[in-house]
Amino acid sequence: MRVLLVEDDRMIAEGVRKGLRGEGWAVDWVGDGAAALDALALVGESHSYDLMLLDLGLPKRDGLEVLRALRGKGNGIPVLILTARDSVADRVKGLDAGADDYLVKPFDLDELGARMRALLRRRAGRSAALIQHGPITLDPATHEVKLSGVPVALSAREFALLEALLARPGAVLSKAQLEEKMYGWGEEIGSNTVEVYIHALRKKLGPELIRNVRGLGYTLAKDL
Ligand code: CA
Repeated sequence: MRVLLVEDDRMIAEGVRKGLRGEGWAVDWVGDGAAALDALALVGESHSYDLMLLDLGLPKRDGLEVLRALRGKGNGIPVLILTARDSVADRVKGLDAGADDYLVKPFDLDELGARMRALLRRRAGRSAALIQHGPITLDPATHEVKLSGVPVALSAREFALLEALLARPGAVLSKAQLEEKMYGWGEEIGSNTVEVYIHALRKKLGPELIRNVRGLGYTLAKDL
């Protein structure tokens, strides 16, 4: 899953980015409100964000301006506000401007991760914490994957790839779409990494799980 982190405090940004990358998130970081809107404007066929973490006190355009601008354009990306402003009035303003949730600084990275997962569940219309597809169960919180009830060990990248496919069960995802769920800006991507990870997933979860759609990309088998 790919997240846009908008935060001008370098220490906080580095901490959040490191923590989330360790959890398998692809994280793009920008340090001001104008850059946030630029990053969101780049979104297209093979580049999209699953979630945005938004600081309120930002250079150029503040967090509320960013939020109002993107909601005004009909952009429904889940937004979690990270703020040092903890007055009730500020929280109400943020939520009324279109935020989905907020966390007051200083926050705990585990709580941040749990709230992010809750937002993604809500967006996907799921209430259950586990994602299921045929014999496969994936737990976004613990990163545990099971095949017919038996735990299967996956690397962080393999997990990210499987999670991206499970998030859109009927869809065909291109190599570029899968890559952008696995790598944030500045992370090195090898030339055939998606193929390598698909191969590994098929080995661990069965050859029938992921199908090639020639010239288009990959999709999950429906009838498992
Ligand atoms: Ca700030």
